[in-house]
Amino acid sequence: MIPFLDLKKMNEPYETAFQEKLKTVLDNGWYILGKELETFEKAFAEYCQTQYCIGVGNGFDALVLIFKGYIELGKLKKGDEVIVPANTYIASILAILQADLIPVLVEPKLETYNINPDLIREKITSKTKAILAVHLYGQSAEMDKINEIAQEHNFIVVEDCAQSHGIKKSQNLNSKFQTGENLKSKIYNLKSSSAFSFYPGKNLGCLGDGGAITTNDSELAKVLFSLRNYGSEKKYYNDYIGVNSRLDELQAGFLNLKLPNLDADNDKRRAIAKRYLNEIKNDKIELPFWDLSNNHVFHLFVIRTENRENLQEYLIQNNIQTVIHYPVPPHQQKAFSDWNTLSFPITEKIHNEVLSLPMSPVLTDSEVDFIVAVLNTY
Ligand SMILES: *Cc1c(COP(=O)(O)O)cnc(C)c1O
Repeated sequence: MIPFLDLKKMNEPYETAFQEKLKTVLDNGWYILGKELETFEKAFAEYCQTQYCIGVGNGFDALVLIFKGYIELGKLKKGDEVIVPANTYIASILAILQADLIPVLVEPKLETYNINPDLIREKITSKTKAILAVHLYGQSAEMDKINEIAQEHNFIVVEDCAQSHGIKKSQNLNSKFQTGENLKSKIYNLKSSSAFSFYPGKNLGCLGDGGAITTNDSELAKVLFSLRNYGSEKKYYNDYIGVNSRLDELQAGFLNLKLPNLDADNDKRRAIAKRYLNEIKNDKIELPFWDLSNNHVFHLFVIRTENRENLQEYLIQNNIQTVIHYPVPPHQQKAFSDWNTLSFPITEKIHNEVLSLPMSPVLTDSEVDFIVAVLNTY
């Protein structure tokens, strides 16, 4: 069986280094908010070309804390509306609600699965104060258009990068922001920040839960360093109503070992994606859009097909495991019963048709050969 994702195989090359790291942390006798975290925060900020990185407990907390941070700074307040793609992993939407803000869902483009920037303006009200862009499946959202709208209305831009570690250029809205040829010279004067998850299956994954926030906003960073630690900068003196959400030493240590290989891993993912795109030839299968730029890190390779369950079953019979990301759109989840009557036809179509093929840096050429061959005879 070709597994959808072989986490064990992905972490195997690090086994000795992980064990040494465990010994280092044990020898240090310091497990939370220490040297490993400091090293990682510095390295990851540099990697993302941002000034600050704040390690937190997971990707969900990264999002929630960003919103809470802006609330503490008086830049958002309870009841403000946040534009968010209707087609996203539910965590993006739950994070907005968790911070007492109101999610306003916007349809995606069928080709990119990402938010359609042309539909944002019609959802703007006097309460709209922020846009949460999600780089779904590892593909950059159209940040040039999103930033332009944000700039026009003075919105905060938050990026959910839980699936997109390595699309560096979209991380930096200031001088280094470079996606979109015609906007290359444009300087955005926006408040922005990005949330990352290091959940084991993400492009950069640890051996448990982990997350981080990156930003160039020094005020926000200062609040976040405090909020993640009970709202306390100086131990036992609390400035904010904070939470406990810290990236621990062991996980930060493991991430320090894996970060140097992230770009190479993403290159491998893109090489596999290129093969899938060139070699899968089947009228029943719709392949994902990719502009061949580095603004896609293929966290997932997501195809569409009308009889998805059929195809999935056929692949299983041929020893190929696939996963559906995701079977139920957020607005149709039981948890959001108030939204169940809303209609987002493109989001619904995507959720009905998508299927994720095996994709990881450890997928071999012969496995890709086999997957392609099986798909082409479906
Ligand atoms: C994984 C994920 C999250 C949440 O990250 P956790 O570390 O699991 O809390 C948020 N948004 C998106 C798009 C994700 O894929």
